[in-house]
Amino acid sequence: MPVPSEPRSPAPLIDIGINLVHDSYDSDRDAVIARALDVGVVQMMITGSCGASTRKAIALSLAHPGRLFATAGVHPHHATELTPELLAELGPLARAPEVLAVGECGLDYYRNYCPHEAQRQAFHRQLELAARLGKPLFLHQREAHGDFLAILREHWPQLAGGVAHCFTGSDSELDSYLDLGLAIGITGWICDERRGRHLLELVRRIPADRLLLETDGPYLLPRDLEPKPASRRNEPAFLPHIAAVIARARGEPPEALARASTAAARRLFHLPEIDSHASPRRPLVRGSPGAGAHDERAS
Ligand SMILES: [Zn+2]
Repeated sequence: MPVPSEPRSPAPLIDIGINLVHDSYDSDRDAVIARALDVGVVQMMITGSCGASTRKAIALSLAHPGRLFATAGVHPHHATELTPELLAELGPLARAPEVLAVGECGLDYYRNYCPHEAQRQAFHRQLELAARLGKPLFLHQREAHGDFLAILREHWPQLAGGVAHCFTGSDSELDSYLDLGLAIGITGWICDERRGRHLLELVRRIPADRLLLETDGPYLLPRDLEPKPASRRNEPAFLPHIAAVIARARGEPPEALARASTAAARRLFHLPEIDSHASPRRPLVRGSPGAGAHDERAS
């Protein structure tokens, strides 16, 4: 599949949110990983958003040690799937060394795929799990800021930090996350001239040591990417493009942003250093596990 060749990042980058087990990558997952490594995206965190995607994210991480890592959790769109049985399974899954965070978890009152009370219960259970394991959180919130913040505050003293992934909110939402102590994940949403303009201002207010980068692929293809892949599928090789847009908005050299953001991701998620920005390609190990169906979602 022809994919636009992206500029290489001037310093190593980490994609902290990539849905790499999504079935849209089934036909060329190894090539997607190789392209990311080629442009300097040296490590990736695969988002687990339900039982199946969490298991697959861990399996894929095991096939690419040191490069790929996983999160373990249940997205609010899947909240009703968090049965006592799945919760019992999630503990050992999240304890695996490849799993760097609990999540994607949180609240989504925008799409409302699950009742709010089920979402809140699933969120509580996963915050308790993160506290028990001492692992940070990979958090999702859409149109649910008040409840989200209240629940998070309740658990915060027991928690090991986390990231508000795919932040697209307002200045006051940003302030409340920063006050609490969260890191902020910025995606290619900032490249959207219709919906993302306000983020060009807001990213300037995020301390460099709490600004994390993510594609959220296959979703959220940066709208200003030229040329765009025919598939319209987002992938981690486009992270340098997103980083460049953020650096320009902040008035920072892209290299400084990359270094600070990578250091911030390593600190929060205890990612190991990897020394091979100069020669990023490592032999890719056999075929990757495929992915099951995943609800189409916005972030
Ligand atoms: Zn999300």
